[in-house]
Amino acid sequence: MRNSLFTLVLAVLAGGVSQASSSFTFGKHDHNHTSHGEACGIYPKHAADAEKHFQTNIGSHRAGKYNDDYLWAEIPINFHIIANNQTMLDFIESEGRIEAQFEMMQEAFAPARIEWKLTNITRTINETWWERMGEGLIEEDPDDLLEVNPIERQMKETLGSGNPAILEVFIVQLLQGPGLGGYVRALPARFSDSPEHELERDQIDGVVLNWNALPFNPNPQIRQVFQGKTLIHEVGHWMGLLHTFGHVSEGPGSCEGPGDYIDDTPVQAYATHDDLRSTATSIEDCVAQDSCPGLPGLDPVLNYMDYTPDVCRTEFTPGQIWKMRMMLDMYRNIKAY
Ligand SMILES: [Zn+2]
Repeated sequence: MRNSLFTLVLAVLAGGVSQASSSFTFGKHDHNHTSHGEACGIYPKHAADAEKHFQTNIGSHRAGKYNDDYLWAEIPINFHIIANNQTMLDFIESEGRIEAQFEMMQEAFAPARIEWKLTNITRTINETWWERMGEGLIEEDPDDLLEVNPIERQMKETLGSGNPAILEVFIVQLLQGPGLGGYVRALPARFSDSPEHELERDQIDGVVLNWNALPFNPNPQIRQVFQGKTLIHEVGHWMGLLHTFGHVSEGPGSCEGPGDYIDDTPVQAYATHDDLRSTATSIEDCVAQDSCPGLPGLDPVLNYMDYTPDVCRTEFTPGQIWKMRMMLDMYRNIKAY
């Protein structure tokens, strides 16, 4: 079953929403290609460049270390809700989804001493943005930021602040890619080579989030996978974290290579198997594999930066916390040290 895809056609009829049908695909992991890594907008070939930039520039920042007594870092967050009509807009915001999502962010990042400040919620009806967001994500040349889907660029320039110290979350419909819950366009260390590139990057910053990945999805099959943790995973990328799986020299399935460049996340040959996607209903079901039995540690099945059902995603390691804080300080002008 590893190479198969199954498609779930979802018609959302709850809440009187009549035009909110969408096709939705959950990917069965294929250990022989990397499309899942790319679906988040994080390209394995960029990881080494980003790490090199980080290691080269960290010297000019305080040499931090794991610390239980970090300063609290405050980050403003803006939610931008996009829909094709007022009914859908109201539906997305119903059930307290945005408030619940915000609270999940507070809870997830509290161990890292990161506090979110909800500064704005915007609501926009725009059929084009709704229909075509995420187009081209897989095919575009990731080295050319100017190639980014003009629809997405227009949305971000209209609604976003362009300020790297503010997290902009664009809630849209995403039809592309297997199980695409959300994505970011670039690791913060990417395109830091010149002020012009930084400006380009900042204009397409932020997280694009599928509304399906918000809390309280009315469809139980989607809720089996998505319960609101996608945003936490994507914000991990927004801060500069990589997936705990992959970044291995021979591609998925190999245990050779640097992994995610973090000491306390065991090297993982591929994302946690998809069996959990249909079976895990509580954290007791989140059984860790050992995809690299010759190396220390089991696969980090509870880590936010693995691919697992949301019920399993409950932790960042101290190494990830140290690094995300260091990168907030270095790349986003957010005081964390
Ligand atoms: Zn990801």
